Amino acid sequence: MISSEIKNFGILGYPVVHSLSPQMYKAAFEAAGFVNYNYIPLQVHTGKLFMAVEAIKGLDFRGVNVTIPHKTTIMNYLDAVDSDALVIGAVNTVVNDGGMLTGYNTDVAGFLAALAEANFLPEDCHAVVLGAGGAARAILWGLCKRRAEFITIGARNLQKAQALAKDFMNQGAVEAFDWLSDEFKEMLQTADILINTTPLGMFPNVDDMPPIDLKLLPEGAFVYDIIYNPAETKLLKTAKELGFPTLNGLSMLLLQGKEAYRLYTGQIPDMEVMERTLKETLSKK
Ligand code: NAP
Repeated sequence: MISSEIKNFGILGYPVVHSLSPQMYKAAFEAAGFVNYNYIPLQVHTGKLFMAVEAIKGLDFRGVNVTIPHKTTIMNYLDAVDSDALVIGAVNTVVNDGGMLTGYNTDVAGFLAALAEANFLPEDCHAVVLGAGGAARAILWGLCKRRAEFITIGARNLQKAQALAKDFMNQGAVEAFDWLSDEFKEMLQTADILINTTPLGMFPNVDDMPPIDLKLLPEGAFVYDIIYNPAETKLLKTAKELGFPTLNGLSMLLLQGKEAYRLYTGQIPDMEVMERTLKETLSKK
């Protein structure tokens, strides 16, 4: 059905020029017949975020996605923040209901749906998470929600990893290690899943990978890299060569987008269109 109603959406960030969101949402809106839905990259400098948020109301945007560096600061300017986003401490989607702005974090839903699609059940697993940044926080919360038995964080910055583990202490059994330590190497030996949340291996630094000896993982361990560009990072290529099942970050990206689209429109997007558009856009990068 064609809808002639005008609605505006965008992505707030700095920089935003590399974002895949405009193409992905525009394609999905068009496929759904929302011919007057616009999606605009909105470059917002640090220090101007408050004004940008007021403008969302003033210009009657229906919603915005939020990216680096505004995911945490924006929480101060919203009328409400959903419980997942509160625990994670970051918002990546804002919905405007008649001037009332609510912040959500759809990375959790995207992460859990991607695991489910790959037939990996996080319940009772030992998960090893590499990195202690924003994506790690969302993933940790997803693993706690699904009652993973034990979560090991490995990172280059032990202090940061320990602070993250402390934040989730009441949500599950979480411990942090320097990823070069012998204790961490021991933890790898009982991992059911290894999840890379660092940017090591991301385009253009495709020859990088976290300093992890994958041979320490038990047979059948699932190796998940949330990077989506390139589709196969050095970590995943090495894991595949060693016979481990693998997953890249494209499905998480798509499925977090599906959740944001649902929050914006109350509908489910055409996932084939979204996936095709994402892959086409990535192939041109
Ligand atoms: P972030 O908040 O900056 O966190 C990055 C983490 O990686 C930090 O722990 C950081 O350690 C570590 N790190 C960065 N560079 C490193 C290096 N050279 N060596 C060792 N550790 C390093 O970033 P983020 O938002 O969590 O995003 C991380 C990655 O996830 C990016 O590649 C992003 O594209 C991807 N991502 C994918 C999806 C998806 O839907 N598939 C969603 C979100 C993010 P320090 O604290 O020591 O700097």
